This record gives sequence, structure tokens and C-alpha cells, in this order.
Amino acid sequence: MTENRPLPYRLREPFLTTVELALFRLLVEIMGGRYAVLPKVALNDIFYIVRPNENVHFFNKIFRKHIDFLLCDQKSMKPRFGVEIVKPATKDSMRIADKFMEELFLDAGLPLIQIPSNDEYKATDIISLFQVAMTKVEATTPLRLNNKDSVPNCPKCGKMMVLRIQRNGTRANKIYYGCIDNPHCEGVVTIE
Ligand SMILES: [Zn+2]
Repeated sequence: MTENRPLPYRLREPFLTTVELALFRLLVEIMGGRYAVLPKVALNDIFYIVRPNENVHFFNKIFRKHIDFLLCDQKSMKPRFGVEIVKPATKDSMRIADKFMEELFLDAGLPLIQIPSNDEYKATDIISLFQVAMTKVEATTPLRLNNKDSVPNCPKCGKMMVLRIQRNGTRANKIYYGCIDNPHCEGVVTIE
């Protein structure tokens, strides 16, 4: 039987909270040249479960959950970073849910940047957190260091490179790779 009543769906407002929107804008500003910034991506769309029949419990852990932002390579749309806003926690008392997210991303080899909830974000703080997350992933998966697609080696000395942020000039707030041996080595790779 057809009814004339409209379907019971309404548009949620706002789509992003004030805090999410502030972080979204900053992520687009500093990473947008290289990465697409996607808000609210279902974990189920990023990860799959091996041997799903044996691992139902692990499926339930990610089902209906999402990451605040997924940063994907602009060209291939391959996931590169997860960004999650977390409640500020003391050093020893990371919330169980945040701990699980950290392990999940780390095991799958995707850096997860956990950013304490704040009204205002600073580009330099965000970049430091990206560096921490990338270092963690690289420390647990040495093979990933050979992946030229993620982090380049220094064109001058061949050492590892780290994400840095341009402090001033026309490229202020833009990220680039700098040699880990800076200031001894001035090797840089720009990110377009
Ligand atoms: Zn170098």
C-alpha cells in the first residue's frame, strides 16, 4: 500500500561539529595539496578481516565505527593516514577505545594521528603528531621503509626523511620532507 507521507529521514545538522570543522579546514590547508581529506569514513570500508568466520569478534569491534578523517592519496585514493580526535587523556590513561584504534591502524600499517580535542589547532602541533604516527608505523614495520611511495630517502645523503612544515615565506604552512640529518644535511623533497 502506498502512503503519501514523506519518508522519515531528515538531514542531520551540522554534518561536522565545530571541533571537527576546525580540524578539517586545517588538514585541508596543510595536507590538501597532496591528500584528499575525507571525513567520517567507516572502518569497515578501510579494513577487512582475515578469516572472517573465526574472527567475528574482531568484525564486531569495527562494525558501525568510523574514523574522523581519512587522508587518501589524491591520485590513487589509497588510504595514507587516519586522523582521530580524542579526548585529552593523561599519559597513563589512554581510553580503551583510543588504544584499540591505535593498535588496529598500527597492525594494518596505516599511521593513525590521534589529536586531542581542542577549539583551536596549530599547524605545527598537527605536523608533530603526524611525525610521531609515521615513526611508530615505520618502527613496527621496517619493510615499509623501502616503500618509496610513502617516505622518500634524502636526495643528498640517502638517509631517512621526515615531514616538516614551512614556517614562513610563500609556502608557509605547507609540508615538505626534510632530511633527518638536518641541519647537517639540507636535503629536501617538496610535496606538491
Ligand atoms: Zn640528507
